[in-house]
Amino acid sequence: MKARKCEFCGEKLNKNSTFCKNCGNKVDNNKDVKEAVIDEGTKQSHFLLTIIVVLLAIIVGLGLYFIFFGD
Ligand SMILES: [Zn+2]
Repeated sequence: MKARKCEFCGEKLNKNSTFCKNCGNKVDNNKDVKEAVIDEGTKQSHFLLTIIVVLLAIIVGLGLYFIFFGD
């Protein structure tokens, strides 16, 4: 991963910094933030999809169980 630097003083910045801790200028990290949000959203939707698939499998499994073994 590429290290971010303050465009005003060249100080190394933390990934989520909004302000440079050395000179106090606002750091333009909109692009990084947007990419991070998209990445996080994609992960979350995959996570939700996995949960939905597992729940459906359980529901279908229970349904088949009661169809074949239920009274
Ligand atoms: Zn700075």
